[in-house]
Amino acid sequence: MNPPIFRRQGILFVISAPSGTGKTTLCENLRATPDFIYSVSCTTRAPRPGEVDGTDYHFLSREEFLLKIERDEMLEYALVHGNYYGTLKATVKEALVHGTDVLLDIDVQGAMAIRKTSDVMLRDSLVDVFIMPPTLEELEKRLRKRGTETEEQVQMRLRTGYEEMKLWPLYKYTILSGSMEEDLTKFRAIMRAERYLSRRLELHEVP
Ligand code: 5GP
Repeated sequence: MNPPIFRRQGILFVISAPSGTGKTTLCENLRATPDFIYSVSCTTRAPRPGEVDGTDYHFLSREEFLLKIERDEMLEYALVHGNYYGTLKATVKEALVHGTDVLLDIDVQGAMAIRKTSDVMLRDSLVDVFIMPPTLEELEKRLRKRGTETEEQVQMRLRTGYEEMKLWPLYKYTILSGSMEEDLTKFRAIMRAERYLSRRLELHEVP
Protein backbone atom coordinates (compact mmCIF):
# COMPACT_ATOMS: atom_id res chain seq x y z
CA MET A 1 0.00 0.00 0.00
CA ASN A 2 1.30 3.48 -0.90
CA PRO A 3 1.57 5.97 1.95
CA PRO A 4 -1.14 8.69 2.05
CA ILE A 5 -0.18 12.07 0.61
CA PHE A 6 -1.11 15.11 2.65
CA ARG A 7 -1.26 18.62 1.28
CA ARG A 8 -2.01 21.81 3.13
CA GLN A 9 -2.39 25.53 2.67
CA GLY A 10 0.45 27.68 4.01
CA ILE A 11 0.36 29.01 7.57
CA LEU A 12 0.51 32.74 8.20
CA PHE A 13 2.81 33.13 11.22
CA VAL A 14 2.48 36.59 12.73
CA ILE A 15 4.99 37.77 15.31
CA SER A 16 4.36 40.89 17.35
CA ALA A 17 6.49 42.31 20.14
CA PRO A 18 7.35 45.72 21.54
CA SER A 19 10.14 47.45 19.65
CA GLY A 20 13.52 46.36 21.04
CA THR A 21 12.44 42.91 22.25
CA GLY A 22 14.73 41.19 19.76
CA LYS A 23 11.97 40.26 17.35
CA THR A 24 13.87 41.46 14.29
CA THR A 25 16.85 39.19 15.10
CA LEU A 26 14.45 36.34 15.78
CA CYS A 27 12.81 36.86 12.38
CA GLU A 28 16.22 37.08 10.69
CA ASN A 29 17.09 33.64 12.09
CA LEU A 30 13.75 32.22 11.00
CA ARG A 31 14.13 33.60 7.49
CA ALA A 32 16.84 31.02 6.90
CA THR A 33 14.26 28.21 7.19
CA PRO A 34 13.42 26.58 3.84
CA ASP A 35 9.80 26.56 2.53
CA PHE A 36 9.13 29.56 4.73
CA ILE A 37 9.02 33.03 3.26
CA TYR A 38 9.40 36.29 5.10
CA SER A 39 7.11 39.01 3.89
CA VAL A 40 9.11 42.22 3.45
CA SER A 41 6.92 45.09 4.66
CA CYS A 42 6.60 48.56 3.21
CA THR A 43 7.36 51.53 5.42
CA THR A 44 7.61 55.30 5.23
CA ARG A 45 10.26 55.45 7.96
CA ALA A 46 13.84 56.26 6.99
CA PRO A 47 16.27 53.32 6.67
CA ARG A 48 18.53 52.68 9.67
CA PRO A 49 22.26 52.37 8.98
CA GLY A 50 22.87 49.00 7.31
CA GLU A 51 19.24 48.41 6.31
CA VAL A 52 18.76 47.36 2.71
CA ASP A 53 15.80 48.40 0.55
CA GLY A 54 13.84 45.31 -0.52
CA THR A 55 15.43 43.10 2.15
CA ASP A 56 14.64 44.78 5.46
CA TYR A 57 11.76 46.88 4.13
CA HIS A 58 10.50 48.41 0.94
CA PHE A 59 11.24 52.03 1.86
CA LEU A 60 8.53 54.20 0.31
CA SER A 61 7.58 57.85 0.34
CA ARG A 62 4.28 58.72 2.02
CA GLU A 63 2.74 59.32 -1.42
CA GLU A 64 3.87 55.91 -2.73
CA PHE A 65 2.51 54.21 0.39
CA LEU A 66 -0.87 55.95 0.19
CA LEU A 67 -1.13 54.99 -3.48
CA LYS A 68 -0.70 51.31 -2.55
CA ILE A 69 -3.52 51.62 -0.01
CA GLU A 70 -5.71 53.29 -2.63
CA ARG A 71 -5.00 50.47 -5.11
CA ASP A 72 -5.93 47.88 -2.46
CA GLU A 73 -2.46 46.32 -2.58
CA MET A 74 -2.09 46.19 1.22
CA LEU A 75 -3.20 43.19 3.22
CA GLU A 76 -3.01 45.37 6.34
CA TYR A 77 -1.31 48.60 7.31
CA ALA A 78 -0.91 50.73 10.39
CA LEU A 79 0.58 53.97 11.64
CA VAL A 80 3.32 52.94 14.09
CA HIS A 81 5.54 55.45 15.95
CA GLY A 82 4.43 58.12 13.44
CA ASN A 83 5.26 56.15 10.27
CA TYR A 84 3.20 53.93 7.99
CA TYR A 85 3.98 50.21 7.87
CA GLY A 86 2.13 47.69 5.72
CA THR A 87 2.13 44.16 4.29
CA LEU A 88 1.80 43.55 0.55
CA LYS A 89 -1.23 41.37 -0.20
CA ALA A 90 -0.11 39.62 -3.39
CA THR A 91 3.11 38.05 -2.05
CA VAL A 92 1.44 36.64 1.05
CA LYS A 93 -1.66 35.21 -0.61
CA GLU A 94 0.28 33.62 -3.44
CA ALA A 95 2.60 31.83 -1.00
CA LEU A 96 -0.26 30.57 1.18
CA VAL A 97 -2.16 29.18 -1.79
CA HIS A 98 0.94 27.25 -2.83
CA GLY A 99 1.35 25.72 0.64
CA THR A 100 4.30 27.89 1.67
CA ASP A 101 4.36 29.22 5.22
CA VAL A 102 4.76 32.97 5.61
CA LEU A 103 6.29 34.96 8.45
CA LEU A 104 5.09 38.47 9.23
CA ASP A 105 6.73 40.80 11.74
CA ILE A 106 3.92 43.26 12.34
CA ASP A 107 2.61 45.38 15.19
CA VAL A 108 -0.48 44.70 17.34
CA GLN A 109 -2.75 46.77 15.05
CA GLY A 110 -1.69 44.71 12.02
CA ALA A 111 -2.35 41.44 13.87
CA MET A 112 -5.77 42.73 14.89
CA ALA A 113 -6.60 43.65 11.28
CA ILE A 114 -5.80 40.11 10.10
CA ARG A 115 -7.87 38.55 12.92
CA LYS A 116 -10.81 40.68 11.78
CA THR A 117 -10.38 40.29 8.02
CA SER A 118 -13.31 39.07 5.96
CA ASP A 119 -10.87 36.98 3.91
CA VAL A 120 -11.53 33.46 5.27
CA MET A 121 -8.35 32.00 3.77
CA LEU A 122 -6.22 34.53 5.65
CA ARG A 123 -8.11 34.16 8.92
CA ASP A 124 -7.87 30.37 8.81
CA SER A 125 -4.17 30.37 8.13
CA LEU A 126 -3.32 32.83 10.93
CA VAL A 127 -1.14 31.75 13.85
CA ASP A 128 -0.27 34.79 15.94
CA VAL A 129 2.56 34.81 18.45
CA PHE A 130 3.38 37.53 20.99
CA ILE A 131 6.94 37.90 22.25
CA MET A 132 6.79 39.31 25.77
CA PRO A 133 9.88 41.10 27.09
CA PRO A 134 10.96 39.66 30.48
CA THR A 135 10.62 43.07 32.20
CA LEU A 136 10.15 46.72 31.23
CA GLU A 137 13.68 47.43 32.47
CA GLU A 138 15.09 44.75 30.18
CA LEU A 139 13.08 46.15 27.25
CA GLU A 140 14.54 49.61 27.86
CA LYS A 141 18.02 48.12 28.16
CA ARG A 142 17.67 46.22 24.86
CA LEU A 143 16.22 49.26 23.07
CA ARG A 144 19.07 51.53 24.25
CA LYS A 145 21.70 48.91 23.41
CA ARG A 146 20.58 49.05 19.77
CA GLY A 147 21.58 52.72 19.75
CA THR A 148 19.63 53.60 16.59
CA GLU A 149 16.99 55.87 18.15
CA THR A 150 17.10 59.37 19.62
CA GLU A 151 16.08 59.76 23.29
CA GLU A 152 12.67 61.04 22.17
CA GLN A 153 12.20 58.00 19.90
CA VAL A 154 13.25 55.64 22.70
CA GLN A 155 10.65 57.19 25.02
CA MET A 156 7.94 56.94 22.34
CA ARG A 157 8.80 53.27 21.62
CA LEU A 158 8.76 52.45 25.34
CA ARG A 159 5.34 54.06 25.80
CA THR A 160 3.97 52.20 22.76
CA GLY A 161 5.63 48.98 23.94
CA TYR A 162 3.95 49.23 27.33
CA GLU A 163 0.52 49.57 25.66
CA GLU A 164 1.30 46.69 23.26
CA MET A 165 2.27 44.39 26.14
CA LYS A 166 -1.28 44.62 27.51
CA LEU A 167 -2.59 42.92 24.36
CA TRP A 168 -0.78 39.58 24.77
CA PRO A 169 -4.01 37.67 25.71
CA LEU A 170 -5.36 38.27 22.18
CA TYR A 171 -2.60 36.11 20.67
CA LYS A 172 -2.83 32.36 20.23
CA TYR A 173 0.67 31.91 21.68
CA THR A 174 2.85 34.00 23.99
CA ILE A 175 6.57 33.49 24.39
CA LEU A 176 8.28 35.01 27.41
CA SER A 177 11.49 36.27 25.85
CA GLY A 178 14.77 34.85 27.11
CA SER A 179 17.95 34.46 25.10
CA MET A 180 17.73 34.45 21.31
CA GLU A 181 18.32 30.66 21.26
CA GLU A 182 15.52 30.10 23.79
CA ASP A 183 13.09 32.26 21.81
CA LEU A 184 14.00 30.42 18.61
CA THR A 185 13.48 27.00 20.21
CA LYS A 186 10.09 28.04 21.57
CA PHE A 187 8.97 29.50 18.24
CA ARG A 188 10.09 26.41 16.33
CA ALA A 189 8.06 24.21 18.72
CA ILE A 190 4.94 26.23 17.86
CA MET A 191 5.76 26.05 14.15
CA ARG A 192 6.15 22.28 14.15
CA ALA A 193 2.96 21.61 16.08
CA GLU A 194 0.93 23.92 13.84
CA ARG A 195 2.22 22.12 10.74
CA TYR A 196 0.83 18.82 12.05
CA LEU A 197 -2.68 20.06 12.86
CA SER A 198 -5.10 17.56 11.29
CA ARG A 199 -7.54 20.28 10.32
CA ARG A 200 -4.93 21.84 8.05
CA LEU A 201 -4.24 18.63 6.18
CA GLU A 202 -5.99 17.47 3.06
CA LEU A 203 -5.65 13.87 1.98
CA HIS A 204 -4.62 14.21 -1.61
CA GLU A 205 -4.48 10.64 -2.76
CA VAL A 206 -5.94 7.52 -1.17
CA PRO A 207 -4.10 4.52 -2.53
P1 5GP B 1 10.78 49.15 13.22
O1 5GP B 1 10.67 50.59 12.86
O2 5GP B 1 11.42 48.97 14.56
O3 5GP B 1 11.42 48.31 12.14
O4 5GP B 1 9.29 48.57 13.36
C1 5GP B 1 8.38 49.23 14.19
C2 5GP B 1 7.13 48.39 14.35
O5 5GP B 1 6.44 48.27 13.11
C3 5GP B 1 7.40 46.97 14.84
O6 5GP B 1 6.50 46.70 15.90
C4 5GP B 1 7.07 46.12 13.65
O7 5GP B 1 6.57 44.86 14.02
C5 5GP B 1 6.00 46.95 12.99
N1 5GP B 1 5.83 46.59 11.57
C6 5GP B 1 6.78 46.26 10.66
N2 5GP B 1 6.23 45.96 9.48
C7 5GP B 1 4.89 46.08 9.64
C8 5GP B 1 3.77 45.88 8.76
O8 5GP B 1 3.87 45.53 7.59
N3 5GP B 1 2.54 46.12 9.29
C9 5GP B 1 2.35 46.50 10.59
N4 5GP B 1 1.10 46.68 11.03
N5 5GP B 1 3.39 46.71 11.44
C10 5GP B 1 4.63 46.49 10.97
